[in-house]
Amino acid sequence: MSNYNSILIAVDFSEASEQVISRGLLTASQNHASTFLVHVVEHLPPIDFGYEPLSSPDWYNNEEEIIKHAEKNIIALAKKHAIPVSHARVLSGSPKHEIIQFAKDNNIDLIVIGSHGRHGLQRLLGSTAYPVLHNASCDALAVRIKE
Ligand code: AMP
Repeated sequence: MSNYNSILIAVDFSEASEQVISRGLLTASQNHASTFLVHVVEHLPPIDFGYEPLSSPDWYNNEEEIIKHAEKNIIALAKKHAIPVSHARVLSGSPKHEIIQFAKDNNIDLIVIGSHGRHGLQRLLGSTAYPVLHNASCDALAVRIKE
């Protein structure tokens, strides 16, 4: 079986992220693969104002600020783990869709995610892990998160 060449590590900035990154980096070094680190800012639901706002609505400004904050976080995480800053990305939208699409667009051959993240432990796999494992067009590894 061939090695992985390009690995995507998806982080939600929960405490579990360190475990996901460790496993992703170990797998990358074993395969001599390049590594991408990605966080997806989930779209905030647009509010129905019932009228045309005169300036940008608050949810829009909040989302811009959240994205800027996420960019600082992902760069700090990349530097901490010696991942090239140019491979640290913030996307916005639905985490499951963005992770799968990023993998397709960037010829990723392994996605590494946590079995659970901020969405809790209610099920065997969380609400991002489950659809990514089932719908990704490349291999996906769900790292068992130790509490
Ligand atoms: P969940 O299934 O949502 O509990 O999260 C499981 C894993 O999916 C997390 O440990 C992350 O690896 C990944 N993940 C969840 N949400 C995001 C996000 N917003 N951006 C990037 N990765 C995420």
